[in-house]
This record gives sequence, C-alpha cells and structure tokens, in this order.
Amino acid sequence: MKLVKVKGIVIKEVQYKENDKIITIMTDKLGKISCMAKAAKKNNSPLLSTSQFLVYSEFLLYKGTNFYHVNSAEMIDSFYSLRVDYEKLNKAFEVTKILNKLAYEEEEKTGILSLYLNTLFIIQKMDKQFDFVRGVFILKLLCLLGYAPNMYKCLSCNKKMLENNKTDIKHYYDKTTNAATCSNCYSKKNEINKKHFSEISEAALYSVLYVISSDIKKTYSFEIKGKTLNEFYNFVNDYYLSQML
Ligand SMILES: [Zn+2]
Repeated sequence: MKLVKVKGIVIKEVQYKENDKIITIMTDKLGKISCMAKAAKKNNSPLLSTSQFLVYSEFLLYKGTNFYHVNSAEMIDSFYSLRVDYEKLNKAFEVTKILNKLAYEEEEKTGILSLYLNTLFIIQKMDKQFDFVRGVFILKLLCLLGYAPNMYKCLSCNKKMLENNKTDIKHYYDKTTNAATCSNCYSKKNEINKKHFSEISEAALYSVLYVISSDIKKTYSFEIKGKTLNEFYNFVNDYYLSQML
C-alpha cells in the first residue's frame, strides 16, 4: 500500500453509510480530491476532527479503486475563530462554494490551496471588505485555473491599455468576452455593439492587472474602496458569469 503525504483542507463533507464520510480536500500536491474517511463519525475516531469542514491538516492517503482513503491525519489549523463566528463562517461558505464550483477534481494547478488559505486568514481577520475579498479570490482563482482575462492590450488594435498613464483616458471591456478595448476602438463601434461594453476606470483596471500578475502571497496586498471597488467587483462578477456560461 503506497502512502501519499499531502497538506490539505476539507472543503466538503458528505456522510456515507453509518459512520463513514466522503470528504473533498483541496490539497497542495493532488489538487481537489475526494477521499473516503472510514469510521470518521465515530466518537473515538482519530479522524473525527481532521475530517471536518474547514480543518487544515497533513494527511497520509492511499489510493483505492474509486477514491483516495485517509490513512491518518494531523491537524495544522482548525480555523477555530472563523467557525465560531456566524458572519465569518458565512463568508467562508461563500468562497468555498465558488472553489468547489470552479476547481475540477484531480486537476493539479499550483497555488490554489495557498490562495484559499490566505483568503480564509483574511476573512478570519475581518480587516478587508468582503466584496474586495470575494472579487480578488474569484479573479485570482480563475487565473490559476488558466482563465485569466485578456486585459493588458486592446483586443482590436493590440495597444497596451495602461501605456500612457493618463487618468482621464477611458477604458472599456467587452462583457461577452471580457477582453479590454481602448477608447479609440470603442468609439468606432456601432450603438448596438456598444451595449456589450462596460467602462472601467484606470484605477479599477490597474487593480485587475495587479491581481492577474501578483504573487499569491501578495494578491490581497492592495486597497481599493468606493467607486473603484464597485467597478472592480462588477468587472469580476461579469467575468465570473461569462466563465460559468
Ligand atoms: Zn484599440
């Protein structure tokens, strides 16, 4: 029996038979995986706490016919202060739902576990607005999954979007493809086509490009609020919806 050692956090748990659980773990090495946690519901089970939703542990796993099986686990962080606060827990549920929806099983993409853990730490600390956290999380997650939006250059003329550093220049993006369009190319569109575009300010566009290119550890290291945050949030939501279609 070959054992695999991974670090991972439980992002879903489903009861199976009387005492077993099937848990979904976001891992560092294997991506998102389903695991059988035998007898995990028994009161004396060593997996009782480590097989719970939002518990981060080091797991020893082996591969069975249909599932990985948990051999043993050692807890690293239980995110205790998050799970005892209803408001924080709801926010954690929201980002976890998005993660479960977007990440496919056993597709190894690096960085997703780090991004998700950082997101939970930020929700736990509550020092950022949730619209900001949710927006950054979705955008960076889509980038890590290989779906970064095309926002550096104008899709029509290939001109760099932030080249001139003039804050009075208007920028646009096509809501159907979420690709950037410069004001010059936008002005040439007919009125019907223009309906597919939204304006995005220099500051919001800069934030989008920052998230796309940033190191995962620094993804949340910037601040936006008010109108810029709204624009950033709307852009991410439009992009998220276009990816779900
Ligand atoms: Zn252009």
